[in-house]
Amino acid sequence: MLAAMGHTIIEPVPSLFTFNIKDTRIKDLMGVSAQASVKVNGTKLEATGPLLITHWGMSGPGILRLSAWGARELAAKNYQFTLIVNWLDGMDAEDCETQLKSLKQENAKKAVGKKSPFVFPNRLWESLVTASGIDPETRWADLSKKQIDALTQQLTNAHFQVNGKSTFKEEFVTAGGVSLKEVNFKTMESKVLLNLYFAGEILDIDAITGGFNFQNAWTGGYIAAQSIAGTL
Ligand SMILES: Cc1cc2nc3c(=O)[nH]c(=O)nc-3n(C[C@H](O)[C@H](O)[C@H](O)COP(=O)(O)OP(=O)(O)OC[C@H]3O[C@@H](n4cnc5c(N)ncnc54)[C@H](O)[C@@H]3O)c2cc1C
Repeated sequence: MLAAMGHTIIEPVPSLFTFNIKDTRIKDLMGVSAQASVKVNGTKLEATGPLLITHWGMSGPGILRLSAWGARELAAKNYQFTLIVNWLDGMDAEDCETQLKSLKQENAKKAVGKKSPFVFPNRLWESLVTASGIDPETRWADLSKKQIDALTQQLTNAHFQVNGKSTFKEEFVTAGGVSLKEVNFKTMESKVLLNLYFAGEILDIDAITGGFNFQNAWTGGYIAAQSIAGTL
């Protein structure tokens, strides 16, 4: 309707959504969370924050943030892309390998898969150990260079295939809407149509989680109401 009346509408796409991933490494780990860095392979998109494993894939603030920064780019990819997870909050591969080598010395006689040496749950650690081709019962002392390399990869550069996002209507917010160039933000009135005011989702405004979308709707609504009532 607004486009027909002369407004420019920035193509709406969903934002703040979770990723669908089917992968043996995270199967049966729902509820497990870790402080991780996540990237979308082949793009500049990256984010850091708690990552939560769900029964359909991955969620949590880190993933939601990535979905917000990449709302348009990921829509263009039809939500098919490779996600790269660093489970060690961005620790680089070299530092990780050094840590694993010193763990090999310190824990020589202990089973690798028994206890996570990093600050994430044992179940996730065991899964990543197995995904590295290491039997969890293997003693640290018996780890080969190849196995340490594989474990380093799983910890700092784990690739996951994303196939879709959370289902329609479960996304939190819409990116896109009425072009901001066509709104007077002192009054929230349209610059195209006299006596028409905007607030909230209808505008081309979206933000990461943390209450910023609510704030946008409330602040805009307050200004529009004051402006209409002539009390601004
Ligand atoms: C699951 C979920 C979680 C969210 N979590 C957060 C969060 O944690 N923090 C945050 O900041 N934001 C969050 N958001 C986003 C936030 O809720 C919205 O940005 C905000 O509510 C938008 O306010 P609004 O008034 O613009 O739109 P809405 O709240 O969508 O209000 C629009 C209203 O218009 C009504 N309506 C639609 N069509 C018509 C019609 N033809 N006639 C009459 N009425 C009509 C609708 O029923 C609705 O009540 C979340 C959103 C969702 C869906």
